[in-house]
Amino acid sequence: MNVLLAGGVGFLGSHFCDLLINKGHKVFCIDNLITGKKENINHLLKNKNFKFKKIDIIKNFSIKEKFDCIINFASIASPIFYDKYKIETLLVGSYGTYNLLELARKNKAKFLFTSTSEVYGDPFVNPQEETYWGNVNPIGKRSMYDESKRFSEALIMNYHRVYGIDTKIVRIFNTYGPRMNANDGRVVPQFINQALKNKPVTVFGKGTQTRSLCYVSDLINGIYKLLLSKEHTPVNIGNPNEMTVKEIAQTIIKLTNSKSKIIYKSLPEDDPKKRRPDISKAKKILKWQPRIDLKQGLLETIEYFKGRNK
Ligand code: UDP
Repeated sequence: MNVLLAGGVGFLGSHFCDLLINKGHKVFCIDNLITGKKENINHLLKNKNFKFKKIDIIKNFSIKEKFDCIINFASIASPIFYDKYKIETLLVGSYGTYNLLELARKNKAKFLFTSTSEVYGDPFVNPQEETYWGNVNPIGKRSMYDESKRFSEALIMNYHRVYGIDTKIVRIFNTYGPRMNANDGRVVPQFINQALKNKPVTVFGKGTQTRSLCYVSDLINGIYKLLLSKEHTPVNIGNPNEMTVKEIAQTIIKLTNSKSKIIYKSLPEDDPKKRRPDISKAKKILKWQPRIDLKQGLLETIEYFKGRNK
């Protein structure tokens, strides 16, 4: 396939570029570099099947090439960064998605969108299955992210209904691994970097809120299976291994042999109390489930950050 991949310089997008290139596809990667790091794709720049251009999908842009598939990973995905770039977050999940859908319509291309477990908000049900409509604050501190993803999902489903585009929506749960941004405040890179420097590990609230952490290679393989499937409705991809944030902190302190102590800071507004994917649908229709256990995934990630801190 000739693939246009938006947001291909970020943590997940760059791993998906690698996978597509390894499977023999051609990749035209675009990104506005607002949060992605160019070094994530440096190793691909010499590959004849890979091209990169700095393009902001919020704005009008034109690419002459014809694509079989358009994939949208473009997203300001960490709570610290979407708080910093509030309007950009809303626009990438509205104009950005719209511009790419129009391109898919004109190219008669397949379309895949990376949505999020945040569409479930602070859920009343646990685990969250795809049929749950969510409990989202439409004007709160996470609204720019949650509502832009929800709007994108609605736009995509209706492009599918009106134009018959072959669309896919993946709902991504917390994912970690190499190439995460050390400064974006997300729980795994934050705790690993604090622990490696023997600095206090900052748990928000009492640390009783839960997350379920999926290793990046598992997630990427699941998304590729979805891309090749016939499914149009959203599919959760994540690891159901649910832990409290305090347990995540303790595990990372242990695996890094750190002298760090846990300190407690105030819980950010609208921070979801529970999050765990129900992956029955992915298991059934994609024959997919995560394979990498937490210890193995965290050790890989710790090695990555150790290398960067040298
Ligand atoms: N968290 C924390 N300390 C930190 C960073 C995050 O306790 O230094 C918590 C945060 O409050 C949330 C969870 O870890 O409950 C996951 O946060 P993250 O920013 O990774 O993503 P989220 O799942 O909230 O979108």
